[in-house]
Amino acid sequence: MVRDEREERVREPAVAEAWEALVATARRSADEGLVVGTSGNVSVRVGGLVLVTPSGVPYERLRPQDAIAVDLDGRQVLGALSPTSELPLHLAVHRSTDALAVVHTHAVHATAVSTLVDELPPVHYMTAALGGVVRVAPYALYGSDELAENMLGALRDRTGCLLQNHGTVTYGATLAQAYDRTAQLEWLCHLWLTANSVPGRAPRLLSEGELLEVGEKLKGYGQPISPCGA
Ligand code: 13P
Ligand code: ZN
Repeated sequence: MVRDEREERVREPAVAEAWEALVATARRSADEGLVVGTSGNVSVRVGGLVLVTPSGVPYERLRPQDAIAVDLDGRQVLGALSPTSELPLHLAVHRSTDALAVVHTHAVHATAVSTLVDELPPVHYMTAALGGVVRVAPYALYGSDELAENMLGALRDRTGCLLQNHGTVTYGATLAQAYDRTAQLEWLCHLWLTANSVPGRAPRLLSEGELLEVGEKLKGYGQPISPCGA
């Protein structure tokens, strides 16, 4: 398919709506202090397309006409701006999981923890909301295939991980869910750093059995889903 035809196909209301939600999520990550400046990136899937934030553009400058979409092979099918340098990372998650949205940040407590341990010690039951003990993917250059590969290893059976000396990655069925998982992960890291900083004391950790029990209970957490989606 030639590029013009592809552009026609992607100028659909679903794409415009997804782009608006993606930009709102990226702005929120800056407003809520999970990234500074143009750090971090966001993607959301619409059918066979992946919408991504551009590389190095402040989120408040993004307009509806700046939408960027790539296919699952990374070919750009919409937009003039270059996609995020972390395209390999986003595509790896979209290809290998049921993710519809991916959020990457440099949240400060999470990034601090990524420099200290190989996995985040489970100090709180919300660890189970990310699928179990959160792993740290070994360091690799930002934007590299190696980083994407290391991340996939750390994400096995999880919906989030830390990137060593770099930041966070979470995914979900919606942008809101992916974002919430990043916020929870940052909170968990802040909590562990706080509990672990009391001189002469080490925080109690949850056992594997306790986390499995929470994982089961969380399946019924919140309100039943109604037909109107409320
Ligand atoms: P981009 O501006 O290219 O998305 O890069 C930010 C980043 O977080 C790289 O890891
Ligand atoms: Zn980054």
